[in-house]
Amino acid sequence: RAKESGRGVYRFFKREMDDTIRERRNLARDLRQGIADNELIVHYQPLARAADGEVCGFEALVRWKHPTRGMIPPLDFIPVAEENGLIEALGDWVLRRACADAAAWEKPLRIAVNLSPIQLHNPALPTLVHEVLITTGLSPSRLELEITESALFKDYQRALDNLRRLKALGVRIAMDDFGTGFSSLSTLQSFPFDKIKIDKSFVENIHRHDRATAIVRAVLGLGRSLEIPVVAEGVETEEQILFLRGEDCAELQGYAIGRPAPVDALTMWTTAGDPGAIAPKSKTRRSA
Ligand code: C2E
Ligand code: MG
Ligand code: MG
Ligand code: MG
Repeated sequence: RAKESGRGVYRFFKREMDDTIRERRNLARDLRQGIADNELIVHYQPLARAADGEVCGFEALVRWKHPTRGMIPPLDFIPVAEENGLIEALGDWVLRRACADAAAWEKPLRIAVNLSPIQLHNPALPTLVHEVLITTGLSPSRLELEITESALFKDYQRALDNLRRLKALGVRIAMDDFGTGFSSLSTLQSFPFDKIKIDKSFVENIHRHDRATAIVRAVLGLGRSLEIPVVAEGVETEEQILFLRGEDCAELQGYAIGRPAPVDALTMWTTAGDPGAIAPKSKTRRSA
């Protein structure tokens, strides 16, 4: 009897597992089609200089407008793309779209693009980036590539080699989600990153947990010593802005500055001319 119910439980889990596998397979099939059918879109989130609130760049964040499921966030489909050989096509598309959009802005603001570890390990990446810069006419100094420290894990030498070749193009390299991995410090020691982005899991606890506050302060000190500008991610409150500005954080990113938005919604920031007339010079701008 126990054996029988055991089998029942097994059958139940087996069915659930099959459903999950089928679901992933369907999503991969839809994604392949979706990339071809132009269902991907890029939203842009502003980054502001902490000292005066001036918007100095944007991060490109991909979204998928699925025909029946609606808008799907990247954390739900980037892993699917990585597991099904679709991340190169997806990453190539996002890079091209973001560089083309940024090249059309009147102000020469920076554009940050996220790279998957798989892209970083492809020896063809620097050539691809070079080609995209030439095709879109974007100045290399305006492009910033964001990588997480886990991206360096697999084949350290090859990844570092690619990063060096990218830097030689004049592109900037940012370390994303700093502090959430296992080897943040040794990664910083091995490679001259142009920027450190403190993960929002620390920023959201400023003044809420003494430890988080101390860690943010320490990362800002580390950035100062290494002469690497530090960006705070996930800034949501006035209180966090005041603290970060007081601690000499270089740039702020988060809902308190602006939410990710379609490219058409950025003109108040990207249009040249009298800044006072186009966008109020407030220190904490909120996007629509
Ligand atoms: P990330 O690079 O750390 O991007 C920041 C994420 O935090 C974004 O989520 C953004 O919408 C969210 N965020 C920004 N400000 C705030 C805030 O004040 N509060 C809160 N709670 N969240 C905030 P999103 O767009 O869902 O992206 C999630 C992750 O997906 C990104 O994390 C990045 O790792 C990945 N991703 C996004 N686009 C791409 C892409 O084109 N290629 C690759 N490989 N990965 C991407
Ligand atoms: Mg990022
Ligand atoms: Mg980040
Ligand atoms: Mg993050």
